[in-house]
Amino acid sequence: MSKKQFKAESKRLLDLMINSIYTNKEIFLREILSNASDAIDKLCYLSLTDDQVGLNRDDFRIDIIVDKEARTITVRDNGIGMTLAEAENNLGVIAKSGSYQFKGEMDKEQAGEDISIIGQFGVGFYSAFMVSDKVTVLSRKYGESEGVRWESTGADGYTVTPIEKETVGTDVIMHIKADTEEEVYGSYLEKWKIKALVRKYSDYVRWPIRMDMERQERFETGETDDEGKPKYEYRTVTENEIINSMVPIWQRSKNEVTDDDCIQWYKEKNRDRKDPCVLIRVSAEGNISYKAMLFIPGEENENAFLGDNKGGITLYSNGVMIMEKCDKLVHDYFEFVKGVVDSPDLSLNISREILQHDRQLQLIGRNLEKKIKGELEKMMKDDRPKYESFFRTFGTHLKAGCCDEYGRYKDFLRDLLIFYTSEDKMITLKEYVENMPESQKVIYYASSDTLKHAISLPQCEQVRSRGYELLYLTGPLDEVVLENLMEQDGKRFCNVVTDDLGFETEEEKKAAEERDVENKELLDFVKESLGGAVTAVRLSRKLAAMPCCLTTDGGITLEMEKYFRRGPSEEMRSLRANRVLELNAEHKAVQALKAAYDAGDKDKAAQYAKILDTLAEMMAGCEVEDPASFVTLVSELF
Ligand code: ADP
Repeated sequence: MSKKQFKAESKRLLDLMINSIYTNKEIFLREILSNASDAIDKLCYLSLTDDQVGLNRDDFRIDIIVDKEARTITVRDNGIGMTLAEAENNLGVIAKSGSYQFKGEMDKEQAGEDISIIGQFGVGFYSAFMVSDKVTVLSRKYGESEGVRWESTGADGYTVTPIEKETVGTDVIMHIKADTEEEVYGSYLEKWKIKALVRKYSDYVRWPIRMDMERQERFETGETDDEGKPKYEYRTVTENEIINSMVPIWQRSKNEVTDDDCIQWYKEKNRDRKDPCVLIRVSAEGNISYKAMLFIPGEENENAFLGDNKGGITLYSNGVMIMEKCDKLVHDYFEFVKGVVDSPDLSLNISREILQHDRQLQLIGRNLEKKIKGELEKMMKDDRPKYESFFRTFGTHLKAGCCDEYGRYKDFLRDLLIFYTSEDKMITLKEYVENMPESQKVIYYASSDTLKHAISLPQCEQVRSRGYELLYLTGPLDEVVLENLMEQDGKRFCNVVTDDLGFETEEEKKAAEERDVENKELLDFVKESLGGAVTAVRLSRKLAAMPCCLTTDGGITLEMEKYFRRGPSEEMRSLRANRVLELNAEHKAVQALKAAYDAGDKDKAAQYAKILDTLAEMMAGCEVEDPASFVTLVSELF
């Protein structure tokens, strides 16, 4: 029988497994058991709707069979099983989940260091090769008459053959490596060791993990000793024991399971190296009873959101999983929350369509949302730096939530939003309003693509010089969020780039308008010499130290334009803001422009106009479209 080759990246991984210098080899058992448990979950789930399965919940089990002489450990499950094609697809390629991360790390070619990730993320089935020199898998899929035998001695490939197999399910037979000087692989064949590993890593597997355990039993021989007392002897009895405690962690009371246990569980389950930033444990009794254990991840880790392993809450009813990653329980704005909800009141054969209308589920969802919000508010109050870190990771979800469904959830979420008011400070809108001096009427904000840009926008000068705070927004979504929120405690928002800052008195306004009329000819000239780059040129009422700035007219701001430029369609990418160039009449650069124009040197005046316009573009964080012409223009001044 010819051997089939593993795909390149799988081979590399396998090489690493086989020659692993990794010390934590013992996790192989956890990985194999968790596959077995998943396979049973699948068949059990199927049995809810398919009478043909013929197994009750109590019939499912995982067996560990140890043969010391043959040096094998077999993990047997009566789960869903695999077809020949599935065995080939699933076992012949690199483990799907976690593999991406792993591959990325591997590329760094630092095997020694990188191998530690195996323990963190698990690489599933392949980990068997850390302790085995051969792995044989016998499997039969539910509903199929034929089975499959998959076998591999490592990196040189694997074989698959159809076989007869009496029962549905999978046997993973690990042929344990011979002992070496560094490693006594034989110790994995000790039952006490296996039992300890199950306790350590797989105690909460919901299906019974069974193993034959030998123990010494004293028995009466039936004879008596010299004094007439009964004689005893010891014999070895073998009993098939369940070696895991099975009760899911979330079903246990707070006295039994510490928060640390829950956090550990989360990290293993989600392959997350970092502690979650929030843990919520709920045990609700009453109208509707449920237990929930929810986590907010510490930082969005690439791995945690890969493929199968996306966020979300898994639904259970009395410990039976009814839906993974149920997205109907909490709204999208909390989709980063992970964990489990277990309620005996939920119907078992619930479907995605029904779920949406399930009242029980909605009730649970609303309660949990309140709890999540409460925890976040608490974190914001007690540990602001931690909240800021949370917000930097997941704030976008909350912001998007404010805009969803025409702002339906904005009032639930608004107090959770924080915005920058300086490079290192973020505050809520409520706090902003509380800090406002009496003279301040509106909430000022400046928006650009980076925080630095926003802070350095020239239009901010006047606001800051009055001692008012500004919110610095860093992207188009932020602007849309404020548009949706409309106001905060009766104060409206004012975009310092496009809106009237409200600082002018009536007289000042009048004077400014007169100035515009007086300078109309010059301003028209500037506009014309810019050849359609701007829709208007005005004398600025907002600038202090800077010579010019760019503002916009109409619905599209510069931030939106920048966002559209990255858009998917040509139509979107070509959308432009109506630019208005504002000149600071007090500034010597603008005065030089005016002097050239007044002296009849139109070429020079046009040159100044173009330079000022480009400077305004730069300050607004826009790209200079033709840097070479700009450089020529400026160099000619010398
Ligand atoms: P992961 O479990 O992370 O997807 P593994 O390498 O552990 O990666 O397993 C790959 C796939 O092989 C599984 O997703 C599953 O489809 C299949 N598989 C592994 N073990 C079993 C088993 N005992 N029963 C059925 N399918 C299995």
